Amino acid sequence: MADIDKTSTRRGLMLVLSSPSGAGKSTIARHLIDQDPDIRLSISVTTRGRRPSEIDGVHYHFIGKDAFAKMRDEGALLEWAEVHGNLYGTPRGPVEALLEAGKDVLFDIDWQGADQVAHAMPEDLVRIFVLPPTMRELAARLERRAEDTPDVIRQRLLNARAEIAHWRDYDYVVINRDLQTSLEKAKAILYAERMKRARHTWLEAFVADLLTQD
Ligand code: 5GP
Repeated sequence: MADIDKTSTRRGLMLVLSSPSGAGKSTIARHLIDQDPDIRLSISVTTRGRRPSEIDGVHYHFIGKDAFAKMRDEGALLEWAEVHGNLYGTPRGPVEALLEAGKDVLFDIDWQGADQVAHAMPEDLVRIFVLPPTMRELAARLERRAEDTPDVIRQRLLNARAEIAHWRDYDYVVINRDLQTSLEKAKAILYAERMKRARHTWLEAFVADLLTQD
């Protein structure tokens, strides 16, 4: 009989991680993906320029504004938003295919995207908001990353306050004091959400069969 922990017996869930830039959600997301074969990262399209450390097709699909507009107008994006002056969007096809195959999908998207997915597919969605321990630490992390210009860092810090204002829209909040603890919390959330009764329609048959037994 199917085990409640087997993801092949249920539809996948959508795990959204949001936070202001520099709070560490991308690092948490990467570790979660590396450590759990049943969850895959949704790779967004963006019109932002590639950072030196980024690989096209791994971190993002880097595309032009026209290609982005075409995808959006054709309905090929599950959600999209303008963030820090650039366009970002989630390609719909890969997400639907993964969910149908019983895989979970991890989204590193902002509150606007999370909100759109919440309206489109509320029953499959789990939202986690990652907060920095202090604003000073957030600024320090952005500066340590040293991949953005001082102007871009300044804009991201201003935008951070607006992003944080949406924390109440999320199911869970993780204050990222250290990576290991935050990663363990994200894993605990994922594991518990996977076991929710409503995600396991096969339990009806299991229990019916159980009750026929002496
Ligand atoms: P960054 O430029 O630092 O990679 O990302 C900037 C912000 O855009 C982050 O908050 C990130 O979560 C968000 N983001 C990345 N991809 C998407 C997407 O596909 N949709 C939305 N709505 N936000 C995204």
